[in-house]
Amino acid sequence: MDEKQYIDLAYIAASILFIFGIKMLGRAETARKGNLLSAAGMLLAMVATLFYKEVVDFPLILAGVAIGTAVGWVWAVKVKMTGMPELVALFNGFGGLASLLVGWAEFEFGKSPDAVTRVAIYAAVLIGAVTFTGSFVAYLKLAGKMSGRPTFFPGQKAVNAVLFVTLLVLGAIYAAQGPAWALYLIIALSLALGVLGVLPIGGGDMPVVIAFLNSFSGLAGAAAGFVILNKVLIVAGCLVGASGIILTIIMCKAMNRTFGNVLFGGFGAAGGSAGGTIEGEMKAVSAEDAYYVLEAAQSVVFVPGYGMAVAQAQHVVKELGSLLERNGAEVRYAIHPVAGRMPGHMNVLLAEADVPYEQLCEMDSVNPTMGQVDVAIIIGANDVVNPAASDDPGSPIYGMPIIKAHEARTVFALKRGKGTGFSGLENALFFRENCRMLYGDAKETIAGLVGQFKG
Ligand code: NDP
Repeated sequence: MDEKQYIDLAYIAASILFIFGIKMLGRAETARKGNLLSAAGMLLAMVATLFYKEVVDFPLILAGVAIGTAVGWVWAVKVKMTGMPELVALFNGFGGLASLLVGWAEFEFGKSPDAVTRVAIYAAVLIGAVTFTGSFVAYLKLAGKMSGRPTFFPGQKAVNAVLFVTLLVLGAIYAAQGPAWALYLIIALSLALGVLGVLPIGGGDMPVVIAFLNSFSGLAGAAAGFVILNKVLIVAGCLVGASGIILTIIMCKAMNRTFGNVLFGGFGAAGGSAGGTIEGEMKAVSAEDAYYVLEAAQSVVFVPGYGMAVAQAQHVVKELGSLLERNGAEVRYAIHPVAGRMPGHMNVLLAEADVPYEQLCEMDSVNPTMGQVDVAIIIGANDVVNPAASDDPGSPIYGMPIIKAHEARTVFALKRGKGTGFSGLENALFFRENCRMLYGDAKETIAGLVGQFKG
């Protein structure tokens, strides 16, 4: 076998590691190993690529690897769980920038490209540039460095549409004849499209956009792979592109929104609608009275939401769960796919608190059993348990699947006050006969219940 064949073999091995790595990410117990496996695949692909001696400046590459590893390592270790979406946004952005640079460098310094390569260069710079600036705006919004609300200006949709069509025309011109001016214009307009495309998307919708930009960074990578004819880059890019788009679709479905509505709808621009008026009043309960109900409960389901993340209550929640179990109750945690503000938000927090994976139940498996549950404890969740989603056709969230906490015999809702959820809607569940409010910061409230159990 010659050197080229060894390299191809290494690429195939790396691709297999990526595929198995991604598969293992699907289960909490194997996720860490899956991540390591994929990282090992990437290292193998990088080392194999370094063997293309004729194109590699070893000291420069190694310096890049060392600096990149150090920055990535320190950043990933230091980042707080709540800062994860920002970090992912930046990673996507840099991925897009890398593909943009590969496409541009091939045009600038490569051999004069043929028509097929020009199409690949066009795709790499277009998708790469949109991903780069779009992700950067997403980062600024998530990090609170600019307003997280949808930003509109008159004629925005028309400007974006004109930009898009111009980019298609320029792409055709560049692919056919390859003039430099067309490529430079494509780069400039794509950078602008990334900014203008993400500006009208609201803070709460950002996780969907992050998933979509993640998919885009993969597609940009795949296009860059076609530019430099690197097989492993094509495979890795397609894997990221496909998994990102699947995640985007799952999140849109869980919110019962179309992808177009997320991209162009400006949800939350006016802070959401107030919804219809709700009869009755919210009835508060003391921790002591709640304790007596919990003490007698045979089955308890926790329904965590964004408020649990805000309060960082996951550790005391786990402690209360263990006490309830010791008291003879069956304890489960019902996880809604979009509870919180990022995909898997609740799973990550509960895993951090060492909640056994078997106790985490998906919405579809827990809902049919909710009628037999003694107590549902809602911890800072709101929209994901709003019954209006299933029984009020006039509600803006009508059709969104929810955890049917209201079907439990008793519901305790933990929140600080009368604040609405992400959608800005009032929640009729809190006014129902079987629901009692435990007001206060979720961590303090749960700590109070734990205190009651410990006597
Ligand atoms: P919501 O945003 O609907 O509600 C959170 C509730 O937590 C609020 O009503 C708030 O009430 C309460 N809260 C806030 N801080 C605390 C605290 N410290 N202690 C106790 N309670 C607190 O959250 P859900 O998880 O139910 O729903 C998520 C929403 O986000 C959905 O609408 C979903 O579509 C959306 N979303 C989620 C995405 C994801 O990837 N997960 C992506 C995009 C959107 P109060 O102020 O009274 O305390």
